[in-house]
Amino acid sequence: MAGETSFDAVIVGAGFSGLYMLHRLRQQGLTARIYESATGVGGTWYWNRYPGARVDIESQEYSYSFSPELDAEWKWSERYASQPELLSYLNHVADRFDLRRDIQFETRVTSAHFDETANRWTITTDAGETVTARYCVMATGCLSVPNEPAFPGKESFKGPTWHTGRWPKEGVDFTGQKVAVIGTGSSAIQSIPQIAAQADHVTVFQRTPNFSIPAHNGPPNPEVLADWAANRARYREEARNTGFGLRMAAEGEVATFDVSEEARRAEYERRWAIGGFAMLGAYTDLISDLTANKTAGEFVADKIRGIVKDPVVAEKLVPKTFPIGSKRICVDTGYYATFNRENVSLVDLGDEPIEGITPAGVKTAAREYAVDAIVYAIGFDAMTGALGKIDIRGRGGQALKEEWAAGPRTYLGLMIAGFPNLFIVTGPGSPSVLCNMAVAIEQHVEWISDCIQYMGQRQLGAIEATETAQDEWVAHVNEVADTTIYPHANSWYLGANVPGKPRVFMPYIGGFPVYRDKCNEVAAKGYEGFALSSDAR
Ligand code: FAD
Ligand code: NAP
Repeated sequence: MAGETSFDAVIVGAGFSGLYMLHRLRQQGLTARIYESATGVGGTWYWNRYPGARVDIESQEYSYSFSPELDAEWKWSERYASQPELLSYLNHVADRFDLRRDIQFETRVTSAHFDETANRWTITTDAGETVTARYCVMATGCLSVPNEPAFPGKESFKGPTWHTGRWPKEGVDFTGQKVAVIGTGSSAIQSIPQIAAQADHVTVFQRTPNFSIPAHNGPPNPEVLADWAANRARYREEARNTGFGLRMAAEGEVATFDVSEEARRAEYERRWAIGGFAMLGAYTDLISDLTANKTAGEFVADKIRGIVKDPVVAEKLVPKTFPIGSKRICVDTGYYATFNRENVSLVDLGDEPIEGITPAGVKTAAREYAVDAIVYAIGFDAMTGALGKIDIRGRGGQALKEEWAAGPRTYLGLMIAGFPNLFIVTGPGSPSVLCNMAVAIEQHVEWISDCIQYMGQRQLGAIEATETAQDEWVAHVNEVADTTIYPHANSWYLGANVPGKPRVFMPYIGGFPVYRDKCNEVAAKGYEGFALSSDAR
């Protein structure tokens, strides 16, 4: 690998997206290199090693579908695979398809500049290396840049601090410690029960309670697996034909108020017993009608009140400020019951906001909480964070950072006007994080590699989204979002979790099948909405 400086494509990131992208491009006979800042493959599942980290979708659905052989040979040991198992899976994929020889680890891409005369990208790394490529694919991840804690005094804390998104490989032993966990998103909800089982005491600092639904995790049901194996291709296609790319959340066929309250309650009970995202599929209008949505939210609120013994704590854990599903539902193992433990306490930051971190612990408006360690489970600079860390310059030296100063703008979440031959996997403007990401990623990687093949077959030099197509798509993304419950939550979908980040609803909520059909139609029409040019300009 050493010494090469010119590629058909450079891919940034060796997670789920980058690995498949490399495989596809190599199958086309193209030369490609992945740059990855980590020491190994896996992306999300490399970095997020916090206790309890696991997938929120049943394992067999959160996996690649492109290779029936891979699908058949890999055996998941749990209904919801844990981080170590997911990391093993992605390492297996890297080995099985001999991907490592084209991956350069421990190397961060620092800039990518488009050379208009050559129609090529010049990519530089933190190792001081410069290479060029016809195409640059950003497989940099939607949730790969941890949100940095900005609490005053944070450097003064005398104990260790950990971010769930950068958990150490060797793990953390909390035995005998008093631990503060700041945040109550999915990462916190998965890790708190595990930390509480080990630590002397856990104090949870909650700014906004979240809706969480039990996973009912365990060994996979052999009958379910046998059924899956027998019907794999059909079930994969069924998943791709649901709004969230997930069979389990397939939309119901009737609207919420078409059924009696009793029937509705029975249906919610049935879905609670299945667990996870099943709840969201109960009725056709749960994500479009606030009144309908409230019935599901109230059902879960009652469940919380039923599980948590202290009614004051229970009430604090009940979400009241956003509709259920307008933030990605959390999928847990014993989260609410953890608050029945003697060694767990909840601090409601609505009553007593954090004023800062002191040498001894966390200081709120009410008092100081002395702890031995702090866990920041405060999320990510989502969807645009990783791209923002790279100096990306398109035509005329235009910086992406400036282009997106008021929020990201893309055509189909795949390309950006003014940035030819630059692709983003699961970028803003695509279903992305609203989906089963395995499905969203495969669709994007296949669309991008087909596009690159089309360009090669016609000896074309550059493809670029037109401003008009991009404007229309951005307007459509916003229009669709406004017909749903999603903009009602102060979520990371809107960039609301990062101070100063423009508030724009980033993913596309029109549903995966609608989106996929649009992408296919665009390609079938010779990449409608894109300007294609030859090298002789
Ligand atoms: P990532 O896995 O994030 O990989 C991107 C890679 O790019 C990283 O390894 C990063 O180091 C590298 N990189 C970024 N910038 C640079 C640079 N400048 N130079 C070099 N390398 C760079 N989705 C689901 O559908 N279901 C789930 O259950 C689920 N659980 C999740 C749990 C957690 C804790 C998190 C954080 C996310 C979860 N997601 C889940 C979303 C998850 O991110 C995707 O499912 C998927 O793993 C994304 O793969 P990716 O390859 O696109 O990005
Ligand atoms: P998150 O959903 O953004 O949650 C971050 C939490 O930290 C929120 O409770 C947030 O409160 C809180 N927080 C942030 N800044 C704070 C501050 N300054 N003071 C106090 N509290 C603060 O992040 P995440 O839990 O890492 O999850 C991100 C996404 O990754 C998920 O939505 C999901 O898509 C994915 N994920 C999935 C799984 C899984 O189950 N497989 C697990 C982890 C992550 P506010 O809500 O008030 O902002």
